[in-house]
Parts: sequence; structure tokens; C-alpha cells
Amino acid sequence: MSETTVNGTPVNLPKPVSAWVDAVMALPRPLLIALDVDGTLAPIVPDPYAATIPPDVRDALGVINAKDSVTLALITGRDASALQRIIDIPEAYRAVEHGAVLIEPGDTDSSSSPSSSSSGPGLTEEQQSRLDAFAAWAETLPDGVRVERKARSVGVHVRVLASDDPGEAQAILEQAAQIARSHNLTPRDGRSVCEAELEPGDKGAALATIMQRSAAMSCFYAGDDVTDYPAIQFAAKSGIGLFVRSAERPHPPEGASGALPGTDALAELLKKLSERI
Ligand SMILES: [Mg+2]
Repeated sequence: MSETTVNGTPVNLPKPVSAWVDAVMALPRPLLIALDVDGTLAPIVPDPYAATIPPDVRDALGVINAKDSVTLALITGRDASALQRIIDIPEAYRAVEHGAVLIEPGDTDSSSSPSSSSSGPGLTEEQQSRLDAFAAWAETLPDGVRVERKARSVGVHVRVLASDDPGEAQAILEQAAQIARSHNLTPRDGRSVCEAELEPGDKGAALATIMQRSAAMSCFYAGDDVTDYPAIQFAAKSGIGLFVRSAERPHPPEGASGALPGTDALAELLKKLSERI
């Protein structure tokens, strides 16, 4: 973060988008461009199932992905089938469920079940029963709570409820974390969501693995939530790690290269990059 002081108080001077485009263009090639999806490429909407990536951003990703000296990766909390519904780029690396599952370019996913399925391939009966037990509790929650079944985790989304009753929404997130632990699942906090995971994914570790496998010399990453912090910090050391701000998460993590004001600014960055890359 470019930082200066006014009357002794540190203030962050935001860089214009064009300056970030210049900075990404200057990174050594081969370059890995890795991106979170929700709240980064796809604006946050009340219903997580209604999230979409704007067509001009998809086009920009297509152009970037077609470039020989660039590798594209999507690193998301979604599972493989949900990611595919939002954006289908089989030529890109896809790290899903917060990096717990990595899909190589050209591979179709075989390790994750559709999010609506109640029995996922690759799960033991015992793992499946823990996820089912948590989901059964979550399904009893009031209207305004959306339960997202994923292959190796279950998400409890409270965004709609939070707009009517923020206190109740927060209480449900805290309860969800407790119930997750009681079923030997790992709770993960996100923006208006608690996810109960079989094993804690790590987006930073996933990004490091993709960087190694793709033989990239440098990397760019952008993300908007706590789960992105390790990837942002890894990218900042290997190129550029940007935080995408929101009213819910206004402050970039320690070690970020900088921050963008929101999804629109990242869309502008990607469009400009696609014209120059
Ligand atoms: Mg996100």
C-alpha cells in the first residue's frame, strides 16, 4: 500500500486503476493471473445462487486466458459445479472450496459432486454424515437464511436476513460455527456466511501450488474477503496482491500491495489489461 502521513497520521493514497494496469504489465512473464470470484469478479447479491460475472469481464478473462505468456486461475469458495455455472473456463486452473480441490487446466472435475447432491464421490460415509448432520440443522433456520450444499462443505448465508435483523443474522453465524465444531467440521467466516468444511482449504497454499505447477515467474491476485488474505499476501511477495474493498470489509490485510474500491474498479482493471496484455 502506498502510504504517507498527514499531520503524523498515516493515510493510504489509492492508486488509480491505470497505475495498477501498468504495474501488472511490468511483472515478469510467464505471469499467473489468479482471481477470487464472489465479491471480486461477481458483485455480491442477496441470493448467492444469483451471482453473475458481467459479460465484459468474462470477455476480458477470455482474452487474458488466450495469451501464451499468461496463466489464468480462479480461486473460490464455491464448489466446482457452482463455479462452472458462474463461469466456465476449462482452460484455467480452478481451485474450489477455498483451495481444498484443485482442477488442472483441461480437466473436468470428477472429485466434487453437484452442490445439490446429498452424497459426494470421494467422501467416506462418516464425512458425508457429518456434512449431512450440519446441513440438517441449517435447514431448520428461518427464512432469509440460504443453505449452500457443496461437495466438501456447507455454507450458511445470512445476507437476506441481515438486512432485516442484523443481530439475529450474527447470532446464527456464531451458532453455525459452534454446531460445525460439534460435528468436527471447521467453521470459516466470510461476508455474511459461515461455511462448515471437512478440511480447512487455504487459498494461499492453492495459489502457491498453481504458481509452481504453471512455472510462472510472477503473479497477480485479487480478492475481497478474509479467506483471500493468505493469497493476497503470497501474491504481494511474488508480484501484486490486491484487496477489493466493500462496506463489509473496508480494510486491506497487512502485507497487501494495495486496494481497489470495489468490483467495478477490478472490472476496469481487467478490461484495460485485456487491451494491453
Ligand atoms: Mg470473494
